[in-house]
Parts: sequence; C-alpha cells; structure tokens
Amino acid sequence: MTARLLVASRNAKKLNELRRILDEAGIAGVEIVGLNDVPPYEEAPETGATFEENALAKARDGFAATGIPCVADDSGIAVDALNGMPGVLSARWSGTHGNDEANNALLLAQLGDVPDERRGASFVSTCALVADGVETVVRGEWPGVISRNPVGDGGFGYDPLFVPEGGTVSAAQLTPAEKDAASHRGRALRQLLPALAALAKD
Ligand code: IMP
Repeated sequence: MTARLLVASRNAKKLNELRRILDEAGIAGVEIVGLNDVPPYEEAPETGATFEENALAKARDGFAATGIPCVADDSGIAVDALNGMPGVLSARWSGTHGNDEANNALLLAQLGDVPDERRGASFVSTCALVADGVETVVRGEWPGVISRNPVGDGGFGYDPLFVPEGGTVSAAQLTPAEKDAASHRGRALRQLLPALAALAKD
C-alpha cells in the first residue's frame, strides 16, 4: 500500500531531500507530495518564537487542511556571539525576506570585531510530523563557525559563511550529497524515520 505524505513546502529541493532519505533507509510505499500538489489553503505566517512552534503550526495546518499526514520544517542559523540570533529570523535578518546576500553582509558586519574563538554557530532544523493521533517534533543541529568572507557558490542562504566543525571548506563548497549527509535538516529528518516507517505500514 502507498501512503501519501505532504511536505509543507514548495521547495523541490526539500521534497527531494526527504525522498532520498526515505530511499536510503529502505522505506518504500510513501508518496511525497508538496504544497503545489494539493488544493491551496490559507498558510499562517511564521510568527512563532521558536523553530519548534513554527514547524508544528505548519504541519498542523497542512494536516488539518488536507487530511494527509504532514511534515513541516523550520530552520535557521543560531550564532553564539548573537545569543542564538538570527534564529527564527534567519530568512529576514536584514529586513527583506530571503535576501541571502544582504543577510550575509549584515551578519558579517555584526561579527566584524568578534575574534575567531568566539565565532561559533549552528544551523538548526526542526521538523514536525502531524497525522491522525501523531504529533512528533525533532531537532537537528549542525555546528560550525562563521568565517570572515563568503566562499563557494553551492547551497543557499548562509552556506558561504558557514564552515562546519572539523572542516576547512564552507557549506557552499560541499556537494549536495556531502551536505545532505551532515546537515541539520538531514539530521532532523532521519529522526523522523521510525514514525514515517510506521505511517508507510498503516
Ligand atoms: P526556511 O526554514 O526554509 O524558511 O529557512 C530559513 C532560513 O534559514 C533560510 O532562508 C536561510 O537563510 C537559513 N537556512 C536554513 N537552512 C539553511 C542551510 O542549509 N543553508 C543556509 N542557510 C540556511
């Protein structure tokens, strides 16, 4: 039997990432659909104070509107020297939603005087799964440091500034497979595998 699973996103990369993770885990029988594949419904703005609140609200909305078990994620970067900010404000840190270049420039300027030993940061991804009688929220973190200049042209967002712990290159210099294997989102999604395997069996 095939169970449908709604990923509350229009980002084909996120849909594919979950597909790859399910395939790698040998979980068959899950058909992933995105927001472009279901009738439109009103999507609440992301106003939560935490990644968990935002992910859970999105997954609850998706399941309530469609009746399809729903996975939603909220992610961002938490910088130690900024007490965990940009955090839930990562996508709009410079004031405009999704302006990666301006966000990166502002973050670099804010950390201008911060010495190397205090440039720690973590990418954070929280994923929620909501289905009939199921509410699960998991969190994946990817520790590293913020470099002094953007490097690399892969990835997106803060990737050119982020050097993963133990590495020498930025996240924007990793191949997609290398990033998947290490990233916050991969770490979070893999924690959902037991719950997703159970859905596939229903
Ligand atoms: P969203 O959860 O997809 O809305 O992502 C929030 C924001 O966090 C993005 O716009 C990026 O600025 C940042 N972000 C989340 N994940 C990553 C990543 O893997 N690399 C770089 N930036 C990320």
